[in-house]
Amino acid sequence: MTLSSTAPRRVAIIGGGPAGLMAAETVRAAGHQVDVYEAKGSPGRKFLIAGKGGLNLTHSDAHDVFVARYRERAAEVGAWLADFDGPALRDWALGFGVETYVGSSGRVFPVDRKAAPLLRGWVRRLKEQGVRLHVQHRWTGWADDGALRFETPEGEVTVQADAVVLAMGGGSWPQLGSDAAWVAPLAARGIDMAPLQSANCGFDVDWTAYFRDRQAGAPLKPLVAHWIALDGQPRTLQGECVISADGIEGSLIYAMAADLRDTLARDGAVTLHLDLLPGQTEAQLLDKLQRPRQGRSFGEHLRRQLGLGGVKSALLFEVLGKDAGQLPADRIAAALKRLPLSLLRPRPMAEVISTAGGVRLEALDAQLMLRQMPGTFCAGEMLDWEAPTGGYLLTACFASGLRAGRGVIEYLQAR
Ligand SMILES: Cc1cc2nc3c(=O)[nH]c(=O)nc-3n(C[C@H](O)[C@H](O)[C@H](O)COP(=O)(O)OP(=O)(O)OC[C@H]3O[C@@H](n4cnc5c(N)ncnc54)[C@H](O)[C@@H]3O)c2cc1C
Repeated sequence: MTLSSTAPRRVAIIGGGPAGLMAAETVRAAGHQVDVYEAKGSPGRKFLIAGKGGLNLTHSDAHDVFVARYRERAAEVGAWLADFDGPALRDWALGFGVETYVGSSGRVFPVDRKAAPLLRGWVRRLKEQGVRLHVQHRWTGWADDGALRFETPEGEVTVQADAVVLAMGGGSWPQLGSDAAWVAPLAARGIDMAPLQSANCGFDVDWTAYFRDRQAGAPLKPLVAHWIALDGQPRTLQGECVISADGIEGSLIYAMAADLRDTLARDGAVTLHLDLLPGQTEAQLLDKLQRPRQGRSFGEHLRRQLGLGGVKSALLFEVLGKDAGQLPADRIAAALKRLPLSLLRPRPMAEVISTAGGVRLEALDAQLMLRQMPGTFCAGEMLDWEAPTGGYLLTACFASGLRAGRGVIEYLQAR
């Protein structure tokens, strides 16, 4: 039997983000009636915000490296990516006339670094294909007869569907619509979920008021970070981060955030070590530090001898204390190469890039259908997987939307 030979059925997609819209497009292509229900007044608000950072759509990593980014969920996410990976996503964007390029870090962006043209083109095409979009429809759970319940400006609406895709995103930036209110109705149905928690997040550090007032917003670069991963192995990564009023954030921190967060949860403490001068060895630093100060302040000595100034110098004083200059040179050299920073806690979910946790993949079959609720599928960030920034989040959301959409088609075909 071909896909199109199935009699059209009614499919409800809940959530108009990348995962939901991908599922909608896939199911519609098989001829079913597709209704997308979106809580906000327009779809794809988080996708649009991602556009503010240039819209890092995907990454140019080799396939196995790409898949490994999904950590303990690499096998499952890898299966979705087998159908729709980075190159497929770039081709898909090209279908809207959106060309992409590989940036210096291997990340892939649209040439114009904007999300709006892509989203506009996509929503237009979906509508032309006959997908019906219902905005300001906030799903609140199931009625006793199994109907989907929606809060709308006109009051409650209930909808019966032959299959449903839940694609309501994670729990970050709730003002954009993904407020994780789906957790309660799913929990009430006994769906197995991992608690949502911050991913790709900054961490709080107990800065002095003096340091915070002067350095919040200052970029720290270049920098090498050393940390101990959850498996006990030492890890090293070069990159950039930013001092924030509450602590430290930025791409370098996000890349190791899962390890740091989980270590904090396990041990109650975690220390990150920063190499402030990656271009110089400890021996070189020691040699330069030991040169005569000639009456200059320690700060000035650091600047002249090591080229260390601004926020990096301020951070050294912040960690070693205002009398850092009195310490033995070898201690200072060691601190410059491995400045210990105690992280207190991850930043709250509401302000981070993405969340970990959600519907456990064990609760779903390979087509992303809830084992306990035949006909109900899940996709996107509301599933329990995580990945660093770099385009891996969006790619997995698109790929899972496609997988769930295909799952719906097969499910309806079999009935
Ligand atoms: C600031 C920022 C920048 C980012 N930049 C990037 C980037 O450059 N690259 C990258 O890969 N990832 C990026 N991300 C992450 C990426 O945007 C998300 O992982 C992705 O959008 C998740 O897709 P989704 O479809 O699963 O969920 P979402 O995009 O969150 O969409 C879910 C939709 O469901 C709707 N919804 C929620 N609850 C209900 C309900 N009860 N009823 C009806 N509708 C509901 C929401 O309003 C929303 O429209 C960024 C995230 C943020 C916050």
